[in-house]
Amino acid sequence: MITVLSGGTGTPKLLQGLKEIIDPAELTIIVNTLENDYFAGVYVSADIDTVLYTMADLINEELWYGIKDDTFITHERLEEIGCSELLRIGDKDRATKIQKTLLMEKYDLAKACEIQAKNMGLTSKIIPMSNEHSDIKIVTDIGELEFHDFLIKHRSEPKVLDVKFSSVAPASGIIDAINNSDAVIIGPSNPITSISPILSLEGVREALKNAYVVAVSPIIGSGAVSGPASKFMEALNVDVSAIGVASLYQDFLDALVIDTKDDDKKVEVNQIINKVIVTNTIMNNLDAKKNLAKIIIENIP
Ligand code: GDP
Repeated sequence: MITVLSGGTGTPKLLQGLKEIIDPAELTIIVNTLENDYFAGVYVSADIDTVLYTMADLINEELWYGIKDDTFITHERLEEIGCSELLRIGDKDRATKIQKTLLMEKYDLAKACEIQAKNMGLTSKIIPMSNEHSDIKIVTDIGELEFHDFLIKHRSEPKVLDVKFSSVAPASGIIDAINNSDAVIIGPSNPITSISPILSLEGVREALKNAYVVAVSPIIGSGAVSGPASKFMEALNVDVSAIGVASLYQDFLDALVIDTKDDDKKVEVNQIINKVIVTNTIMNNLDAKKNLAKIIIENIP
């Protein structure tokens, strides 16, 4: 059994590789819920939906958001009638979101996701990190912004001074999944807004200390492959490098996978983390995803 901690872009790429080389029924995926909220009347859990669509081979791989080849009739009509929405939600994707919203009238988020995963024919366990609503604020030079306002309205442009989020209770099953796994994989996801919310859940860091944990650095050289991770790391005074990533996870991490381009940092990372694996971590095709997944699995003791 393998547990994966995931956000909504980097780790899903790795999941595409993992599900090709191990039985998906062996995977438990704990997904960030920090950015979840209601938009235009539907509950949007972007990272969870990305993981569901990834595992069901439905994901739009250009955006790592929504369903491939979707249409936007409802989105466009909403604009026409003066009800424009911040997120560009496709029609099929909206159906998933409507279903989740309806399920959540009866069940908690974890149960709603379990039902949706089953409907999509998935055998992996996909667990939202929490059933509670998190309140996240990006503190910037133009004021405190909601996460999606920062990301979409302001295109991640303002200078980030701090990232604040409220603490929430872990969804049930998370600690057990970690305790019962042969290894925990922290995928290359944003360390500040995707992974640290999961790590901040009560009991998670302690459980990870007793597990074999391997992470993949989402930082190559001195920048993120995509998204605002470097801005958030800088704001929190974390070195934007594989060394900075190592320092964030050092209290529980057994192995860190860094990119071939960071070979010169291996010695320094090794002073923080016992085992350092150097390989290609750019996952721009299925072979690269499978190779990285294979190297991670082969290195599990
Ligand atoms: P979000 O929820 O959309 O913010 O996505 P994640 O947190 O899951 O992933 C964002 C992180 O993935 C960024 O920091 C990127 O640097 C990292 N990332 C994306 N693609 C790759 C890749 O191919 N290789 C590596 N090493 N990191 C990647």
